[in-house]
Amino acid sequence: MRLSVIGAGPAYTDRPGAVGSSYLITAGPTAILLDLGQGTFANLAGTLEPSSLSAIAISHLHPDHFIDLVPLRHYLRYEFEPPRRLPVLAPAALPDRLDALLGEPGFSADALDVTALADGQVHEIGGLRLEARRVTHTADSYAFRVSVPAAAGETAAPGLVYSGDCGRAADLRSLIQPGDVLLAEVSFGLGPIPAGAFHLDAKDVGALAAQSGVRRVLLTHLLSGRDRPATEAATIKAGGGIPARLVDPGDRFELG
Ligand SMILES: [Zn+2]
Ligand SMILES: [Zn+2]
Repeated sequence: MRLSVIGAGPAYTDRPGAVGSSYLITAGPTAILLDLGQGTFANLAGTLEPSSLSAIAISHLHPDHFIDLVPLRHYLRYEFEPPRRLPVLAPAALPDRLDALLGEPGFSADALDVTALADGQVHEIGGLRLEARRVTHTADSYAFRVSVPAAAGETAAPGLVYSGDCGRAADLRSLIQPGDVLLAEVSFGLGPIPAGAFHLDAKDVGALAAQSGVRRVLLTHLLSGRDRPATEAATIKAGGGIPARLVDPGDRFELG
């Protein structure tokens, strides 16, 4: 299983070339995309042919996580004859949100087959398994664990847990299995987190890593102007030495 970082930015950025959230997980011919935030479609298309995705999972309906479904929909509709379609796992409101944005009923349904996410649901997608857990952020936000299911008699390989945007680290505990890689948002870096902002900081992520026995932490979604090396160091310190680093578009990780 391999992780390719397509986009790793937060809701806004002052770094040219930085884009919203998007992470590609592949295992053999199976390819699952987690989120498709602002500006990420071109990076995706430069990494693999987008209609070859097995599925897209959208963590929640903030634009830095889903808005490039608009160019993806146009691409599927007009790049191919006949048009192509893709399965999308997303909060139930996604089709209405896209249709309202475009002022065009049926805009989403023209190319996207949307299945509503639910807490605790497990989806078998090609050679991968995706589990969704609701987290504290918007009223309908999810974190995901992606793994290669174990064959009979074999021990399961470690998985990848992606936090989405998450205001309470404890929400992720039930998803994480010892040895997993944790891809966690660290929006507010060294903190503090302003009241009413449902996000994590380095202390939260490091403590979660230590409690849940992950083998490494990949940090993402850090707000503009925050100190990157200090955020990494604070996460490692709070995690009792578990390795942690910020990721950027173009990074690739073999997850075992
Ligand atoms: Zn976000
Ligand atoms: Zn958000």
